[in-house]
Amino acid sequence: MSTPGFTSEVETVMVHQRETISRLPAYKQGATAGDSGAFKLSSNENPFPPLASVTRAIASALGEIHLYPSMAVAELTDRIAARFDVATENVAFGAGSVEVLSQLIHASAGAGDEVIFAWRSFEAYPILVQVAGATPVPIALTDDECHDLTAMAAAITPQTRLILVCNPNNPTGAFVTTDELHAFMAQVPADVLVVVDEAYGHFNRDASSAVGIDFFRRYPNVAVLHTFSKAYGLAGLRIGYAIAPTAVAANLRRVALPFGVTELAQRAALASLDAEAELSVRIDEIVGERTRVLSALRASGWRVTDSQGNFVWLRTGDGTDRVNAVFTAEGILARAFPGEGLRVTIGTPEQNDRFLVAAAAALLPVTV
Ligand SMILES: *Cc1c(COP(=O)(O)O)cnc(C)c1O
Repeated sequence: MSTPGFTSEVETVMVHQRETISRLPAYKQGATAGDSGAFKLSSNENPFPPLASVTRAIASALGEIHLYPSMAVAELTDRIAARFDVATENVAFGAGSVEVLSQLIHASAGAGDEVIFAWRSFEAYPILVQVAGATPVPIALTDDECHDLTAMAAAITPQTRLILVCNPNNPTGAFVTTDELHAFMAQVPADVLVVVDEAYGHFNRDASSAVGIDFFRRYPNVAVLHTFSKAYGLAGLRIGYAIAPTAVAANLRRVALPFGVTELAQRAALASLDAEAELSVRIDEIVGERTRVLSALRASGWRVTDSQGNFVWLRTGDGTDRVNAVFTAEGILARAFPGEGLRVTIGTPEQNDRFLVAAAAALLPVTV
């Protein structure tokens, strides 16, 4: 903000700021389409508009937005506890599961503590760890885009406080099997918390995949992270939760942003739970489109790994910028990780068709 003649003073005054924070990259939102007519497939959003019942539930609460929401998120906590057959004490909410993740990190790790996660994975992980003052310990994925749980176990030190397992992994779509996660847990000290981030759990159709809640029941040091943003399509309302050991969940409530979960979000989440049958039809459609997109990509010559998320991963390496430029020219906005690859969200059939055209175009030899 610069007001002519009144600028330099403001800009040169150096107030004390934490060094680590000033150096952090800001979280990057997926590219936005604006009015370009391009399809935004960069943020793993749900392509379906909100259900009418959900919109009605939100509308019915609009007359009360001058009031603070229920801080205890009481009704929804009861619903989630009943649904997963856990105690209400084990459930803790936040403004999106990213906020719950932040709570988990702040409650578990500070200066001098280490947090292990796979990399590349969800880009918020290293940022949130550093915001908490802790040290990120990223462990490279295997060649087939999976968590390298052997290397992650080997990275555990006396300073390790938290381990994040993203299942299925954003952005690669690979998953961790039940057997692999049990073998991993056998190597994790009982006082180190393991968080299974299941933001894409509803899209995961592989029966051999680890299911977080089973691990929560079996181990005293496992927490599960769920969100209403992806499969339930409430990304814009910000609501997610953890199912965590009692003492951990109590700390999450201590760390939480007071009144972070709005009444509109709570009502929308309750209405979504009432509409799960309707939502699961949509989820099935997205999964069906994922299958179609993956086979079409392979048929056109792309080598792609399977994905259990609502997105596909193209390991384009050094060609990432070039391929992304083709996508942009073809009206597809993907999430590009320069030097690594591109993540493309499964959208409507029309959006997916255009993506497939772009992907085929990107495979053609470049003509100068
Ligand atoms: C999208 C996503 C989340 C959830 O974000 P919200 O804050 O709930 O919208 C959490 N973890 C991963 C890995 C994600 O990709």
